[in-house]
Amino acid sequence: MLTDKQISKLKEILGTPIKIAIIMHKSPDGDAVGSSLGMKSYLEKFGHKVSVLSPNAYPEFLKWMPGTKSVIDFEKTATIANQAILKAELIIFLDFNSLKRIGDLEIAVKKSKAYRLVIDHHPQPENFAEYAYHNAGASSTAELVYDFITLLGDNKKIHKDIANCLYAGIMTDTGSFRFSSTTAHTHEVVAELMRHGAETAKIHRFIDDNNRDIRLRLLGYAVTEKMKILPDFATGFITLTQSELKRFDYKDGDTEGLVNEPTSVKGIVFSALFTELKDGEIKISFRSKDNFDVNQFARNHFNGGGHRNAAGGKSDLSMDETIIRFLTLLSDYKKELKG
Ligand code: 5GP
Ligand code: MN
Repeated sequence: MLTDKQISKLKEILGTPIKIAIIMHKSPDGDAVGSSLGMKSYLEKFGHKVSVLSPNAYPEFLKWMPGTKSVIDFEKTATIANQAILKAELIIFLDFNSLKRIGDLEIAVKKSKAYRLVIDHHPQPENFAEYAYHNAGASSTAELVYDFITLLGDNKKIHKDIANCLYAGIMTDTGSFRFSSTTAHTHEVVAELMRHGAETAKIHRFIDDNNRDIRLRLLGYAVTEKMKILPDFATGFITLTQSELKRFDYKDGDTEGLVNEPTSVKGIVFSALFTELKDGEIKISFRSKDNFDVNQFARNHFNGGGHRNAAGGKSDLSMDETIIRFLTLLSDYKKELKG
């Protein structure tokens, strides 16, 4: 958390218009994009020049957000992204706890002499910014951005664009307010965002009801043909190879939420989605219920991390080898999973 002295210093830094770079994590989700664009709209009210940087592309279903067109994609325009970082007087990191999560944007960040502020809710944060507004108990980074704006005394400055972005971040990270990370404070923040103009029904429509029909067919195929349920391990998992993704004209974000499906089966407490990326790497998403700690599981075995009940990682093995490894691990965790 920030000390009073740090808050005063941040107010001083933001007291005159400066250049600011906001950086989101790789494969940014609704919380990363929502908190970043909400923060951008807020800062621009004070005349700051704000660049929002993403290590790679983000899903179509988030592209309705105000400010979306200005996002700089490092994968497409590395030079422009690096320049924005090197010119910035303040860098704001949103929704991640380790510089490993921003890929090669890290190189320019390490060269920069800018002030650094991180706002995040992932457990076990690494120390890479002198100003850290961190709370692992928060539902989302967007909720913390709301709290941060309030902390700076600017609550009244929140307008519709900011409210819409922050609402989208909170809503996506809480699975529409159903995950255990949702607190009374989360609902209070949402109530305030609604008072500040958040168009909640419209946002749910933009995010949930904006699919190409082929995406729904991919999800149907994944659940019908590719989902394995292992009651002996209280586990369900789904695999999708590149050729399967191509068959369904896969676009970034198309498998968003799919990892949750196995956990809707009675008795399942652990779920995994294995997706083969274009370069052959296997990207893995984990979800759990109650006490099974997928952050620790991802850290220990798949070079990843996240939260206790939602985490991710990767594997350099082939899909088949990765699954064999996963099944072997399940035997080791059987007691915990069935406990
Ligand atoms: P998702 O499964 O939706 O991609 O990610 C779930 C959670 O795990 C998010 O909080 C995300 O930041 C985190 N996460 C996903 N992939 C990785 C990874 O490769 N490394 C780390 N450290 N965290 C990840
Ligand atoms: Mn988040």
